[in-house]
Amino acid sequence: MTQDDGYHRVPMWKDVSLQDWEDWHWQLRNRITHVDQLRPWFPLTASEAEATSKTHGRLVMAIPPYWAALMDPQDPDCPIRRQSIPSAEEFDVREHDRLDPCGEDGDMPVPGLVHRYPDRVLFLVTEQCAMYCRHCTRRRLVGTTSRGLMSSANYEATFDYLRKHTEVRDVLISGGDPLMLTENRLEKILKSLREIPHIEFIRIGSRTPVTMPQRVTQEFCDLLKRYKPVWMSLHYCHPKEVTPRVKVAMDMLAESGVPLGSQTVLLRGINDDPATMKKLMHELLKVRVRPYYIYQCDPARGISHFRTSVESGVRILEQLRGHTTGYAVPTFVVDGPGGGGKIPVSPNYVVNYEDGVMTLRNYAGETFAYHEPDEVKSNGGQVVPIRNFEETTDDERASER
Ligand SMILES: *Cc1c(COP(=O)(O)O)cnc(C)c1O
Repeated sequence: MTQDDGYHRVPMWKDVSLQDWEDWHWQLRNRITHVDQLRPWFPLTASEAEATSKTHGRLVMAIPPYWAALMDPQDPDCPIRRQSIPSAEEFDVREHDRLDPCGEDGDMPVPGLVHRYPDRVLFLVTEQCAMYCRHCTRRRLVGTTSRGLMSSANYEATFDYLRKHTEVRDVLISGGDPLMLTENRLEKILKSLREIPHIEFIRIGSRTPVTMPQRVTQEFCDLLKRYKPVWMSLHYCHPKEVTPRVKVAMDMLAESGVPLGSQTVLLRGINDDPATMKKLMHELLKVRVRPYYIYQCDPARGISHFRTSVESGVRILEQLRGHTTGYAVPTFVVDGPGGGGKIPVSPNYVVNYEDGVMTLRNYAGETFAYHEPDEVKSNGGQVVPIRNFEETTDDERASER
């Protein structure tokens, strides 16, 4: 069941036993948190060297050996590396950057509980993660305990709130990363939630199965089974992340009856081209993970170097829908800065609307007239195109074929 992901080629782990390597506590204890652990085997770029020497006030670095062994020492653009090693660009704070880009702090009736949508809440249970993503939107909170929002002392206040708020039927457990908690603490959370009759849907948002798949133990799977149904939202950004070892973890979860979804952040230079994104979506389907959302990267402080245009996300969606399996097509969303919540942005397939006749284009760029029945003709006011198909260039249309 276990496998060697080639970590023996990394000098400092060449003598590590497979048993240690497969122990998630060992993985956590041996995370790379200091630049001196990288230097002997990993030539840093000037930008990385600068950032790692002055991370003061910035999100800390923590890289589990499993993830580190996937980083390419020879390639400064390696997607695994860029998501985990700080770079000097993180010190470049732009005018519209925000500490709390999604306005979560303003929607917290209890510290650590975000209640924004009518029927569901986001329950932040820890500040810790196995690996700290450089593009983290919650970097104001994670990797620190300074704000103490997510301590277990607040759990009781959260359960009280949820017991009173009978409109809440869906709880998303997130953080930080909930899989940093022990089974014991996770069980207390799941048990308390299951005891609240109106809560009918529970999911855990976690990236740990991707960055440190050793965490997905049989004990963890058994725990989820006891409180079934529990869904999981994973966070995958690049096809390189779907390794044979990760597949083992996905198999264990899927075979324990856990429905799996993935959220992907659109990241410049990492996954912002249609071919990479399509490959990622295909790799996910192969390991039974259903692509759920692609997120436009939030304007959190110091991550502009990861952000790209909203339009590039729309173009990626255009290259997926119809061109490949419908299950491989997630929803592209922009989180409305300051607290708007997730707002879908889609390619526009309505070319024209006049007197009950809708002109639609398909994925291949062919147009079709759809006639609405006379008695329910609409006036088309809600479907005015925001970007006409005619505005796409011949080159783009050619590349679609
Ligand atoms: C994303 C999010 C949710 C869950 O939204 P879904 O669209 O149901 O996945 C809930 N609360 C907050 C604050 C969120 O950001």
